[in-house]
Amino acid sequence: MAGETEQKGPETDEGLARRVLRSEHEHLRVLLASLDDRARGVMRGDALSGLDLCASLEAAAKTLTDHIRNEEPLVALMLPPGAPRSESLARLHEDHVRQIGEIESMQRLARTSDDVVSLALAIRAFVDDVRLDMDVEDRRFSLSPGANRGPGAAPSCLDCGDSLAPAVDRVFAVRHGQAICMACAGRRGGIYDESTDGWLKEPRVDDLFDLLDRRLVDDEVQARSRLAR
Ligand SMILES: [Zn+2]
Repeated sequence: MAGETEQKGPETDEGLARRVLRSEHEHLRVLLASLDDRARGVMRGDALSGLDLCASLEAAAKTLTDHIRNEEPLVALMLPPGAPRSESLARLHEDHVRQIGEIESMQRLARTSDDVVSLALAIRAFVDDVRLDMDVEDRRFSLSPGANRGPGAAPSCLDCGDSLAPAVDRVFAVRHGQAICMACAGRRGGIYDESTDGWLKEPRVDDLFDLLDRRLVDDEVQARSRLAR
């Protein structure tokens, strides 16, 4: 068509990589939501077996591992020009080694645990962590600004309570999918390096670990008393 002005040439490598990552993240969020539902069900005392929970975990773990193994070459295609490439990729690789370790220890726990409540609690914390990791990656690689988190609910800063959007804003990940805002991270001594998108000095958050541990214990007590009825 002579009058055609739209330049819709073949998709660039970068565009393709972005599209693949975005759709993998979407698919993973669906799997995680269903895994989380099962874990919640177990804690509510629904007639669900630990076997269901394990099968659902295995499915999510497999997809997640495949995704992680795929991600580094894709990300290499879409780093913004001028970004310190080797540093960004090295840091992504470190994150991936940690994530694979978390998945494997989750799978080990599922195979060996004979306590379905502890397993359900551990799975919920794991799901929150993976969701936060994906949100942070979405922001780092501008995959889906403002992406909806699904039924996981918008997180808020564990310290000041301000609402957080880890898919858009920088945050400091504490643990169990919980994070603090950059203002709180700064007050707690954190020093953030813009050029590598990493922490030169991590904020002090030991008191927040304690808070999260107490919350987990409360959840467990509640779940056990419900199941004992
Ligand atoms: Zn805060």
